[in-house]
Amino acid sequence: TRESEDEFRSKPAVTRDGTPVSVMINVADPDELDALDPSHCDGIGLVRSEFLFHGAGGLPDEERQYLAYRRILTWAAGKPVIIRTLDAGGDKPIAGLTAPDESNPFLGLRGLRLSLARPEVFRVQLRALGRVALQGNLKIMLPMVTRPEEIAQAKRLYAEALASLRAEGTDCAEAPLGMMVEVPAAAIAPELFGEAAFFSVGSNDLTQYVTAAGRDIAAVADLNDTLHPAVLKLIRSLVEGAAAMGREVSLCGDAGGEPAQIPALLRCGLRSLSVAPRALGRTKATIATTDLGDADG
Ligand code: PEP
Ligand code: MG
Repeated sequence: TRESEDEFRSKPAVTRDGTPVSVMINVADPDELDALDPSHCDGIGLVRSEFLFHGAGGLPDEERQYLAYRRILTWAAGKPVIIRTLDAGGDKPIAGLTAPDESNPFLGLRGLRLSLARPEVFRVQLRALGRVALQGNLKIMLPMVTRPEEIAQAKRLYAEALASLRAEGTDCAEAPLGMMVEVPAAAIAPELFGEAAFFSVGSNDLTQYVTAAGRDIAAVADLNDTLHPAVLKLIRSLVEGAAAMGREVSLCGDAGGEPAQIPALLRCGLRSLSVAPRALGRTKATIATTDLGDADG
């Protein structure tokens, strides 16, 4: 009920049998933060930086990005904030940046692939992130990582951005660089990605790629199911693989905020979810009624 959601929103999330679960929020539009209390979440598990790229007037310059990120870090007051580098393409076309004529945009030049293909665009974001890392507990997350070489390339560009800031005498700091796990290749073989400081499951994309059913195609919505045993098996094996590597793994896809899906995700071993702000209360309420020892709870 609405009352129990309100009651749970302000409290730490714990399962019925006493297991704590970290619950963070996803931010697609920083204006949303004004109405939210940072004490109600364990941080920001995903900032979709695309919001900066949709405005009129072309691509955002370094200062505009810096100020937007600083506002988010200030709101979080020291809690972790994971800012994802630009995830353009697929369901997120950006005028002047993404190709309008790809035959299958979800399998095309999107996410980190596009950032690496357009280093002059990526560099601006990396410089803004390098500067803002001094303002809070920042982590940087790369979307759509498919091969470890892409992380190495991103790290090189990041190091160059930091070096150029230092050479100009601009204060900056290095934040940990982690990755989304949303391409099946990464979920199947996390051991390849030891260069990533942390993992976050993008269940929206991972589900569509595993089930071959588009996330935005109503006619196959029943097939696009994170509860498909194959998707859950993959998430469970990723959680185990990440643990063996000593990497934290969270989940920031929409399934994390869906009461019908949360118990199954917790049973895969996930202990950290990042959800839309409006789903915070119901996520914590669902966690509280989930008994991890009970197959039905
Ligand atoms: C995902 O794919 O699950 C995800 C969190 O990223 P987005 O929905 O922005 O693609
Ligand atoms: Mg995604």
